[in-house]
Amino acid sequence: MKKIVVAGAGGFIGGHLVQKLVKDGHHVRGVDIKPLNEWYQVSEKAENLVLDLKLKDNCYQAVNGFNEVFNLAADMGGMGFIEKNKAACMLSVLINTHLLMASKDCGIDRFFYASSACVYNATKQTDPANPGLREADAYPAMAEDGYGWEKLFGERMCRHFSEDFGLITRVARFHNVYGPYGTYDGGREKAPAAMCRKVIEAGITGNREIVIWGDGLQTRSFMYIDDCIKGIIDIMYSNIDEPLNLGSSEMVSINGLVDIVEEIAGIKLERKYDLDAPKGVRGRNSENTLIRKYLGWEPSIPLKKGMRKTYEWINQQLADENRTNKGINKFNK
Ligand code: NAD
Repeated sequence: MKKIVVAGAGGFIGGHLVQKLVKDGHHVRGVDIKPLNEWYQVSEKAENLVLDLKLKDNCYQAVNGFNEVFNLAADMGGMGFIEKNKAACMLSVLINTHLLMASKDCGIDRFFYASSACVYNATKQTDPANPGLREADAYPAMAEDGYGWEKLFGERMCRHFSEDFGLITRVARFHNVYGPYGTYDGGREKAPAAMCRKVIEAGITGNREIVIWGDGLQTRSFMYIDDCIKGIIDIMYSNIDEPLNLGSSEMVSINGLVDIVEEIAGIKLERKYDLDAPKGVRGRNSENTLIRKYLGWEPSIPLKKGMRKTYEWINQQLADENRTNKGINKFNK
C-alpha cells in the first residue's frame, strides 16, 4: 500500500483515478479547488481536501508525508473554453510548478504529469487525414496557444526536475478523453459529451436540429476513460522518462461522431454548421508506436462501445435534472 496524492481529484479523470487507486488498496488523498459537493466522484475511502494548488504552501500541505503524486489538476475544458481563456489555462503552470517543488522537497518517489495532444505543432495538424502525431512532432514547438504552451512548459519542468534533482517524473500526452462522470454542459465540455447532450436535448425538446462547430469534417481520436486510467498507471510505473502519447488511434470526423450518437439514440437530426465557432486544428490522431513498444499495449476500447456508456450516463443525468425541475427551464428555453 502506498500513500498517493491525486491532484484534480474532483475532476473527470482524477475522480476515476482515485476510485481505481482506492480499489487497489492504496491510501489516497484527493485534492481539488472545487467545493466537495461539485466533485464528480467522492470516494469515502479517500482523504478529500479542498485546496487551491496554485498556491505553493497548499502544495506542500497536499504532498507532505506521501509517496507519489499524480497531477491531473488544471483549469481547462474543450475548445470552447481554451480558445477564450488562454491566461487562465496558462496559470495552471503554477499548479505543476509548485507541486514539483513540494514533491522534490518532501521526498516524493514518483510524479505523474497529465499533458495533452495540444502540445503538438499546429503545422502538423492541417489535414483531416492526419497520419497520427508522433511524440517527436511536438518540436519545433508551435503548440496550441495558451493551454498547449502551458502543457509543453509543464513537460519540460518535469524533465528538468528529473535531470537536476533526481525526482522520477512520468508524462502522458492525453488525446481527448471521454466517459461517464465528466463535464457535459456549462461551456467546458468536449465534443463527445457535447454531442451526447445535444442529441438527448433534441429528443426531449422535439427540436430536431443539431448545431455542429465547424464544417464537421475535422478529425480527432477519442479515448475511453478506462483505457486512460490503465495507461496512466502503466506509464507511472514504467521506466519511460520521455513523454508518451496516451490516446486512441481510431480517428473519426466530427460528423462521424454525430452519426454514432444518432445511432445510439435512434434519431436523425438536421445538421447546422456554425463556421464561426471554435473548432481547433483540422486533423488530429494519436500515433501509438512508442506506447506499443514500451508497454506492449495501446488504448483499444472501440468508440461506439465507449460512446454508448457515455450517452447512457449523460441521458440519466439529464433525466434526473428534468425530474428535479432543475432542467425544465433549461429545456423549455
Ligand atoms: P477536469 O476539468 O474535469 O479536472 C481538472 C480538475 O482540476 C478540476 O476538478 C478542477 O477543479 C481542478 N483544478 C483546477 N484548478 C485547480 C487548482 N488551482 N487547485 C486544485 N485543483 C484545481 O479535467 P480532466 O478532463 O479530468 O483533465 C485532467 C487532466 O488531464 C488535466 O490536466 C487536463 O489538462 C488533462 N487532459 C485532459 C484531456 C481530456 O480530454 N479530458 C485531454 C488532454 C489533457
